[in-house]
Amino acid sequence: MEGGSFLNLIEKIDSFAVGIFRQFLIKEEGNRVVILTPNEEYKRWATAYLNTKLKGFGKAVVVECEKETKAVNKENKPAPKDNLSDRYTFENFVVGPSNELAYKVCFEVSENPGKLFNPLFIYGKSGLGKTHLLQSIGNRLKQDCRVLYIPLMDFSDAMVKALKENRIEEFREVFLGLDALLLDDVQFLVGKERTQIELFRIYEKLQSEDKQIVLVSDRHPKDLKDVSERLISRFESGLIIEIGLDDETKRRIVRQKLILYGLPLDEPTMEYVMGNTGYNVREIEGFIRTLKMVGFKPKSDQRKADKQKNVETVINIVAKSFKLNPELLKKKTKERKVMNAKHIAMYFCKTILNLSYSEISGIFGKKDHTSAIYAIKKVEQKCTEDRKFQYMISFLEKTVRKTLGL
Ligand code: ADP
Ligand code: MG
Repeated sequence: MEGGSFLNLIEKIDSFAVGIFRQFLIKEEGNRVVILTPNEEYKRWATAYLNTKLKGFGKAVVVECEKETKAVNKENKPAPKDNLSDRYTFENFVVGPSNELAYKVCFEVSENPGKLFNPLFIYGKSGLGKTHLLQSIGNRLKQDCRVLYIPLMDFSDAMVKALKENRIEEFREVFLGLDALLLDDVQFLVGKERTQIELFRIYEKLQSEDKQIVLVSDRHPKDLKDVSERLISRFESGLIIEIGLDDETKRRIVRQKLILYGLPLDEPTMEYVMGNTGYNVREIEGFIRTLKMVGFKPKSDQRKADKQKNVETVINIVAKSFKLNPELLKKKTKERKVMNAKHIAMYFCKTILNLSYSEISGIFGKKDHTSAIYAIKKVEQKCTEDRKFQYMISFLEKTVRKTLGL
């Protein structure tokens, strides 16, 4: 039985955790359940989770890391070198609006290599999961295919070494015998003429045999300067997909990483991580790791950053409710609708964020602190005269407080 009754039990007690457990290989053998996690982080998480949450199951549950199990197997039969790390899987890749397309296409490639999307070219900034997706393809293909993951720099170094040692034919054979070549960081092709020539040769051969090629870069093929035209045009001949990171996806990733590190999933922790990290998953992971070790440790300019972020939240919520661009609220205006929204945002900066009048005036592009006093008075007055307006203000206030976790 493949973990059926164990998963049923988890599903009953925690519908979120069951999603994570489903990613693991679970074997139920008699009175024993063995859970194989893809990496140490998941092993730690699963062990801690089971120790605190699983009671009365009546079976012994053992958590092991796949790596450990494989290491033992390796002693008997060495696996072919594919440079793949089992910490990267489709299952532990968090999907959101900004990486969904890249995820789907990569998954499709791992289902049908050499068919629909060949070559596939994925590009995007650093730390957005490109290597993770590329390795996930490899991990899924490796059972049935001869697959190799290699960063361009390693390809180049190996080629130079082979040339020096008169083993270039041997080097080529390794690549020409592949079913799938997963080449990472191809931006480093720039200026490497000999590497480009060798790659072109391998590329042409693999393509002519419908072998899968996936290329990853930090920029679009068009922006790969100093790379031969013929290679660029080959890269452009397939599907090119950009990977990004938006707020929604970032939030989902933060959530997953907080769970993995056993940190609370409450609003203040979420906002703390969201507000102190940029749009880079590597940075988010580093931040959460530090958070786990040292706890909340506000940076010296933390308060300032928090304040700015809170102001942005107020402006965004108010602007959205008026269907306005938030930037308009910070500029001078005579337009009535913009002015009204601006006054309300200023009012919340006082009543919720407790900023000084001069700070508020500064934020909204006014010179004098009396502008803030005037705006806030106006909102207060309108609240006493207009019931509908008062309802709107209290609704917006609730939204702002909830978003800020206040
Ligand atoms: P890139 O190659 O784009 O620079 P990586 O693939 O190396 O980025 O990702 C950096 C780190 O962030 C890795 O540890 C990776 O597992 C993690 N990561 C990136 N995107 C995601 C995601 N969507 N879900 C889970 N982890 C992610
Ligand atoms: Mg990478």
